[in-house]
Amino acid sequence: PRRSIVAGNWKLNPATLTEATTLLRLLKANFENHRDASSATEVVVFPPFPFLGVAVQELQGTGIQVGCQTIGTHEQGAFTGEVAPSMIQSMGVTYVMLGHSERRTLFGESDTAVNNKLQLCLAQRGLQVILCVGETLQEYETNLLASVVDVQLKKALVGVSSQDVLERIVVAYEPVWAIGTGKTATPSQAQAAHEAVRATLTALYGSHVAQGVRIQYGGSVTPDNIDALMAQPDVDGALVGGASLTADSFTRIVDGG
Ligand code: 13P
Repeated sequence: PRRSIVAGNWKLNPATLTEATTLLRLLKANFENHRDASSATEVVVFPPFPFLGVAVQELQGTGIQVGCQTIGTHEQGAFTGEVAPSMIQSMGVTYVMLGHSERRTLFGESDTAVNNKLQLCLAQRGLQVILCVGETLQEYETNLLASVVDVQLKKALVGVSSQDVLERIVVAYEPVWAIGTGKTATPSQAQAAHEAVRATLTALYGSHVAQGVRIQYGGSVTPDNIDALMAQPDVDGALVGGASLTADSFTRIVDGG
């Protein structure tokens, strides 16, 4: 049995530290009340870098973990503007998200860059990774879903051990056409895509590892569609964008509808 995992990707939100603190305090209040209901599910929030410190502080004792949305490409030195895994790990951050489609398309992040960053994160003890993959609408319509996801996974996981894959990596399947569009994959579309992800993992690492890796669905997840998605056998959680910016909707998604 795989432990479910729900994550909130805040992206470039909210605008100010005051608003971020308010959201964190509302989450804290909800999770203190929901302790029992939520403990079966692992919960992580991914605020922007400037709010990571306050997030770690405010969420202490709630069981909610804190992650960052990307990472730099080096560990230390003359790399102006970059952020290193050791830095965020030392402040209590436990997850790094890599390969989000917005990083790939808007910021030109290649599969090689994703692999380099993944290696760098795995070299830092105490960090886990949410590795995002997914196809565009055009790729979906031309039946390329399985091959796109297969190539993204294989390139991202070059040189990564089966133990790290099993213990430290979560895969997030996010169809690009469902992100921020209000257009969710149907539960059966999500299930088919998650089966494709697991098939690639089986080819790379064997079925024991592939069966143990958690696969999240992302793309317009809301309290109204979460239950049907989670009912699918290969959907092990959700990566939530817009609905994670409201404490009550995010809490309802964690608790199930
Ligand atoms: P939305 O939930 O806003 O569609 O965003 C999904 C996403 O990209 C999460 O990483």
